[in-house]
Order: sequence, then C-alpha cells, then structure tokens
Amino acid sequence: MTIKKHTNALSNPVFKTVSNAATQLNLECYVIGGYVRDYILSRGDSKDIDIVAVGSGIKLAEKVSQLLPGKPKVSVFKNYGTAMVKSGQIELEFVGARKESYQEDSRNPAVEEGTLEDDQNRRDFTINAMAISLNEETFGDLLDPFNGIQDLKNKVIRTPLDPDITFSDDPLRMLRAIRFATQLQFKIEEKSFTSITNNAERIKIISTERIVDELHKILASPKPSIGFAILNKTHLLPHILPELSDLKGVDEIKGQRHKDNFWHTLEVVDNIAKTTDNVWLRWAALLHDIGKAPTKKFDKKAGWTFHAHEFVGSKMVYKLFKRLKMPLNEKMKFVQKLVFMSSRPIVIASDVTDSAVRRLVFDAGENIDDLMTLCEADITTKNPVKFRKYHENFRKVRDKIMEVEERDHIRNFQPPISGEEIIKTFNLKPSREIGIIKDAIKEAILEGKIPNEYEDAKQFMLQKGKDLGLKIVI
Ligand code: ATP
Repeated sequence: MTIKKHTNALSNPVFKTVSNAATQLNLECYVIGGYVRDYILSRGDSKDIDIVAVGSGIKLAEKVSQLLPGKPKVSVFKNYGTAMVKSGQIELEFVGARKESYQEDSRNPAVEEGTLEDDQNRRDFTINAMAISLNEETFGDLLDPFNGIQDLKNKVIRTPLDPDITFSDDPLRMLRAIRFATQLQFKIEEKSFTSITNNAERIKIISTERIVDELHKILASPKPSIGFAILNKTHLLPHILPELSDLKGVDEIKGQRHKDNFWHTLEVVDNIAKTTDNVWLRWAALLHDIGKAPTKKFDKKAGWTFHAHEFVGSKMVYKLFKRLKMPLNEKMKFVQKLVFMSSRPIVIASDVTDSAVRRLVFDAGENIDDLMTLCEADITTKNPVKFRKYHENFRKVRDKIMEVEERDHIRNFQPPISGEEIIKTFNLKPSREIGIIKDAIKEAILEGKIPNEYEDAKQFMLQKGKDLGLKIVI
C-alpha cells in the first residue's frame, strides 16, 4: 500500500469539516473515487465528492450538515444507505463502507457493512478505487491498494479484482470501462478487455437508461470513435446499437465496392466533435447513415445505391430513440430532421443556385447551420484534391446562404400575405383557393420570381386570383 500526503487535494475547507465531524462521531472516513482520480489527473476541481465512512454514512452526513454554515439540508436515500449534502457548488455524497455479494440475474448486490478495503474491492477500476484519508492523524494519506496511481500514469483501465467477476457482477461496468477509456483516452488492460468480450451478452440485464447515460458520455468525449470502436471490438455494439453494427463491411460486385459506412460514420462523429459540443448534433452524426444498411442495393448500371436512405434513416431514428427510452421530443425531431436532410446540401453543392439555397434554408429553418456543420463533417475522403474541393463547395453554399438570408429572410419564413388578407381581398369562404394562392406566393418567392416583400407579393396575389377567376372586392 502506498502512503503519500495529498493534502493539496483537500484544500477546500469542507474536507476539514468532514474530518471534524468524523472525529466527533469517532469513525473513519475517506474521500474516494472520481474526485481522487481527477485530482491526480489534474482534471480540474470536481464538484462531486464521494465520502466513504466506516460506519453510518447517513449519520456522518447529518453531523457534517450541523457543522457547516447555514446547516444545509441532508437528502437521505434510505434504500441505498446514502446521503447527500450540498455546500455551495459542492455536492458531498456519503456512503457507509460496504461489502457486496452478487446474484446471477441482477446488478443489485446483497450488501453488508465492511471495512475501507472491502469497499475498495467493490469499486469498478483501480483508478476509481483510490482513497484519501480525512481522519485527523492521517489527513491527506493516499490509500491505493491496487496501485491505481501507476495505472493513471500508464493510462490503463483495469479492474481491482478478477475482471470476469467484476464485469459479470455488474455488467454496467463494461460500459463504464469503455466510457472512461474514451473520456481519458486510456487503454483497457488486456485481461479486462477480453473479459468484456466474454461477458458482452450480460449487458442485457442493464436498464436502457443507464446504457444511454454512458453513450451520452462517450459521445460527449473529445474523440467518441474510441468508444464506438471498442464497443464494436468487444461485441457489445450489436446489443446496444445494432443499427450501427449493421453498417459494417464492404461488399464487392463486379469489381465495384462501397465504403465501410461504420468506420466512415465514426470519422464523421470525430470530425463533428471537433466543432460542436451539442450532443444531439453528435447523435445526428452518429445516425446520419443508418438508413444505408436496409436500403443497400446493387444496380447493374448505377453500381451500389442507397436509395432514400435519408428518409428510411429518419424513421429508424424514432424507433431507436423509443427502444432506448430516449426523449421523443424536439431533440429526437432535431436528429430526425438532420438525418433526413443530410444529403440536401451535397446535392446542391456542385451547382449553387439562389433558388436551391432558398429551398434549403426554407426546409432546414433554424437548423441550417447545424446541417452545414454535419455535411462538412461528412467529408471523409482521403483524396486531398477532392477534400479541398468539397469543402470549397460547401463554403460557397454557406456564402450563398448568408447572401440569400440578408436579402430574402427565408429562415423562419413568415408569408408576407396572410390567409386573412387573401380571404378579404376576394371575399372568400374557407376554400382550397386560399391554400393555392398562399402556396403560389411561397413558391414564387423561393423560385426568385418575386422578392420576399409585401407589395410584390400583393401584386402576385392579385394576378393569381385573377387567373383563378376570382373577383377582387377591396
Ligand atoms: P464521473 O463523475 O466522471 O462519472 P465518477 O468516477 O465520479 O466519474 P460516479 O458514477 O460518480 O463516477 O461514481 C463514483 C465512484 O463510485 C467511482 O469512482 C467508483 O469508485 C464507484 N462506482 C460507480 N459506479 C460503480 C459501479 N457500477 N461498480 C463499481 N464501482 C462503481
């Protein structure tokens, strides 16, 4: 066991308060887990602090609250034997040290009181099992029974005990390993890696909410492909996102090949992660090609085709979100829309006309910038000449969008002539003529026949009414 003073980690006065509370109750306590890991990694001051007490975590939380200014509320989670106290920005989570034993069919173990070492044994990874003492005499000592500090230096994720036991006991840990490997850009140690592969099936006992939590964190990382590549290699991917693993592989017929859309997708996700923190836009990148698996065909003349894959893909987004119990609200609609429109800017990029751009902006509305960002991220060609050309084409589309926007205000399009004005002008009852005229005005604006201005639209309306045989009454 390594013992080294780490009092710098404990410079926040709240740690002294916890220490005093523990002295008064005559129990041992330690800060453990993510806070210690992130402190040693200099990952910035974590605001979530896990405290383990050898005894009652709840009693310690109550005592700490009494000693803190303003005596903050203690939230007790009886079922878990944990308690939470907020002090300013900081959230202190208290738990009693425990020993756990697992059943085959559940990740909820039988729990009994234990020592600090028992508690460290039940932690998921060596780098998450390090503790720093908050006890008066040993304040600041690092207790690192599995040499997590060395694993941090070597950038390795490793389970404290036999990985087959750790992962089989709680299969969520497999995803946590992959998530930490992605966030920290660490390697999963070989035995742990093999064990994840062997236990991949067991992910089925984990709730989708927990799985999605980890997927979000993988996607929010600087280089999400690390995580998806490991999910693929460990055979977890088909259990979680079969739509993505179905994109794997390259077929060849008559010497014609298509690209591997799985690895292409991962490149797109990494590209987009460089330009946006918007996790839903990252989801759109991840799912933008999922319609390609079910629509893939070989045509003698055209070669490989993925006809209407954007439409099919957008339908699949809904099913995927539903299956994973993700929100079916505007976030899902945003992802659907981007998947659905993902080829539109590509289609117009080689010949950028005003009317095509107006239609694009009309259909994309407020999502036009995100759509362009997605399309730029979608450029993964290894041919430098093509790479430059495609980017240059999108540059032109972006310039044209700005130009058209300034002039025509198509984004969040409001018809310059209301339905009401059409009704009054021709003294109409509710009828299809109103819709026909409204639509004709919109089309004329998008096509550039008239500017998006009231007077021009009015003249156009009067002419259109005449063509339809309507009489002007005002
Ligand atoms: P982050 O805040 O980035 O998710 P963290 O390590 O603080 O990182 P938490 O989920 O808050 O993650 O967990 C706190 C600590 O609890 C971990 O560091 C680890 O020691 C332990 N832990 C969490 N989940 C598990 C698990 N499924 N199995 C074993 N130990 C776990």
